[in-house]
Amino acid sequence: MEKIKMTTPLVEMDGDEMTRILWKMIKDELLHPFIELNTEYYDLGLEYRNETNDQVTIDSAEATKKYGVAVKCATITPNAARMEEYTLKEMWKSPNGTIRAILDGTVFRAPIIVKGIEPCVKNWKKPITIARHAYGDVYKGTEMKIPGAGKAELVFTGEDGTEVRELIHQFNGEGIIQGMHNINGSISSFARSCFNYALDTKQDLWFATKDTISKKYDHTFKDIFQEIFDKEYVDKFEKAGITYFYTLIDDAVARVMKSEGGYIWACKNYDGDVMSDMVSSAFGSLAMMTSVLVSPDGNYEYEAAHGTVQRHYYKHLKGEETSTNSVATIYAWTGALRKRGELDGNKELMEFADKLEKATVATIENGTMTKDLALITTLDNVKVVNSQDFILAIRNTLEEML
Ligand code: NAP
Ligand code: MG
Repeated sequence: MEKIKMTTPLVEMDGDEMTRILWKMIKDELLHPFIELNTEYYDLGLEYRNETNDQVTIDSAEATKKYGVAVKCATITPNAARMEEYTLKEMWKSPNGTIRAILDGTVFRAPIIVKGIEPCVKNWKKPITIARHAYGDVYKGTEMKIPGAGKAELVFTGEDGTEVRELIHQFNGEGIIQGMHNINGSISSFARSCFNYALDTKQDLWFATKDTISKKYDHTFKDIFQEIFDKEYVDKFEKAGITYFYTLIDDAVARVMKSEGGYIWACKNYDGDVMSDMVSSAFGSLAMMTSVLVSPDGNYEYEAAHGTVQRHYYKHLKGEETSTNSVATIYAWTGALRKRGELDGNKELMEFADKLEKATVATIENGTMTKDLALITTLDNVKVVNSQDFILAIRNTLEEML
């Protein structure tokens, strides 16, 4: 069989620990034999980030802006223990945070559905994608403990010196206050990323806040979404046969539980943090979650939702067998290859991505899986395999399909 050619390079961001091992296996067994892989390689492994004073992370994000599509392996976010382990010059920032700051995007996370790994919510038949606004609110909040009686106010001072004041509370005793903010520009980017992603994936978009209580703060989110939708997206949504639906957050939560899935749920920063953990654990496993960062100007960075699986890596280093699930990392590749194919009009590449996903799902549904899935599956006669054999089993299924 002739290998599939690629016209534009994919930005490849390599990573750390067990996922770095899986990364190479996936390329060797599932990609190189079928594609003349054209990537611009950036080594985001912690050693090289340290060597380049983290410049490589910035370069990889800039390359993503240039080419439009990237695929990223999980990376270590250094803490005190890693400082010692890798003798780091500095406690480098989270690569995901750095990349997000440069691309200014929204993160979309969706579960990968397979028969035999059943959601805890029995009426969920299709994936629920969470779109989380990744800027501001309580994550950039300022807080104060109030020591005793006194007046707390919100004060805004304009550049011309004019002041606006609002009473927060007249305290009679001890208490607490919190100040937080968001920026209309960031909310607009969030809205556009969500509308574009809904069009891309042909799914309805839901958005919810608590605008009945938060009449200025949350209401601004609601208004910005509605204005942008009315001005730029009404026709496109109609053409695509999808809808935009706004409701109160409590109503949304109730509806999500009773729904069958198959839509995107846009969440403010805190709601997204909390709800994505609920949705992902209810669907089964972090190792079965895809994650993509979409920037408002249409750049895409695909990754797995989990980390570097450190505990498995240490076993691997000791020469012990591991059974690490590579599905989310495979889907990071297929997501990126499909998007690259779509942008380049490369149908073969898009079809290959579809087939690799089908082969991955079929392998699990036929009973071959890693340990994490074997623990939660409803299938009988399961064959539990190690990290390498799982990828080889997918290759077998794929070759049969091609
Ligand atoms: P983790 O790598 O997600 O792993 C936590 C545990 O979840 C594992 O020990 C394993 O459980 C299970 N698990 C996760 N992915 C799995 C997979 N693919 N197959 C099988 N089991 C899987 O989280 P962590 O241990 O908290 O973090 C490790 C490193 O990853 C940290 O340095 C952190 O900074 C980094 N991290 C990176 C990203 C990213 O790049 N996007 C995200 C999160 C964390 P068992 O041990 O019980 O088998
Ligand atoms: Mg969380």
